[in-house]
Amino acid sequence: VFQEVPQAPPDAIFHLTSSYKADTNPNKINIGVGAFRTDEMKPYILPVVRKAETILYNDETLDHEYQPIAGQPSYTRAATRLILGEDSAAIKEGRTAGVQTISGTGANHTGALFLHQFYKKSNKCYISNPTWANHRSIFSLVGFEVEEYPYWNPQTRGLDYEGLLQSLREAPAGSIFVLHPCAHNPTGVDPTQEQWKGIAKIMQERELFPFFDCAYQGFASGDLDKDAWAVRYFVDQGFELFVCQSFAKNFGLYGERAGNLTIVGKTPEATKRVFSQFEKLQRSEISNPPAFGSRIVDIVLNDKDLYAEWKENLKYMSHRIIEMRHALKGHLVELKTPGTWDHITNQIGMFSFTGLKPGQVKVLKEKYHIYMTNNGRISMAGVSTKNVAYLAKSIDDVVRN
Ligand code: PMP
Repeated sequence: VFQEVPQAPPDAIFHLTSSYKADTNPNKINIGVGAFRTDEMKPYILPVVRKAETILYNDETLDHEYQPIAGQPSYTRAATRLILGEDSAAIKEGRTAGVQTISGTGANHTGALFLHQFYKKSNKCYISNPTWANHRSIFSLVGFEVEEYPYWNPQTRGLDYEGLLQSLREAPAGSIFVLHPCAHNPTGVDPTQEQWKGIAKIMQERELFPFFDCAYQGFASGDLDKDAWAVRYFVDQGFELFVCQSFAKNFGLYGERAGNLTIVGKTPEATKRVFSQFEKLQRSEISNPPAFGSRIVDIVLNDKDLYAEWKENLKYMSHRIIEMRHALKGHLVELKTPGTWDHITNQIGMFSFTGLKPGQVKVLKEKYHIYMTNNGRISMAGVSTKNVAYLAKSIDDVVRN
């Protein structure tokens, strides 16, 4: 029966990691994968997560029973509060709800699935060019026609704001727009607050639906409120919207799959009905969400002291990344590498979109054992005080030749 099944291509990122692992060169560098590493290139377990784990193990009231279909209310409420803010009018008015999902990917998928069933204004979904590779797969899988809106301007190595606005004006009314509220993946380029206001204005006029995908809150700038600014502004403007949240990066809980989908509706009644449909969808997809990661997040977000400590852990991660941006740019400037490198420090979050071409990426891999995605994206988490000089020297060589 499976004679006709074609071979699927390997996932580009995971394939890159396996090539890196198989490489025996001592100078090898993995700047492909989007997971935080310490300066010693070790995975990082946040100290506050360790503390929460101890609390969890010693809590004799806990067991391994199923969780509620939409997750523990204490968790989803805390996640919703985190993204919308303590003083959110929408929360106070009872127009919000949260659904625990399989990390950010699950939030995107469940949100997309719901929209495909219940959102009748448009069957078009717009994603940024470029974007996280999974956006296209997720939205087309559930049946949307996926289009792209311009985002990256290769000339300025910044945002193509005019192109983006044009796309908002030309998209069929009611279309869905997937937006990265902070630390855009893969470019590291975010709209300014003024630009977000311009985006919101046209989206309101054209009745476009904002679908925020927030995978880096607090990880981007080290400031949880700043990274949530765009979402909160849209909520204040009266939009109905969805926000996907991932606790993979900001809690380092990659494999535990702790995520949340926040729903903001017009009225408490509408939100309640939407939530009931999410419960129904979730039942047939995963029955109940996983408990371990979400319990850790629940403990930290609901304890004043642990929450304060989490913010410190976030600062350590975001500062290390920012330091590496400065170090890499500093070396390139010192080497007088042709081109301008300001974008490395202007960009934010885990990634830097270097502008390196696929041919140059290939030489970096084959000659220098440096592994990165073909689009020239560097994960700054793979850069350390020990490898940054070698990385800069190698980039200098491929740019000159
Ligand atoms: N959205 C974006 C833009 C991302 O970069 C990521 C992580 N790479 C995710 C969603 C979701 O990741 P996860 O499912 O691991 O939370």
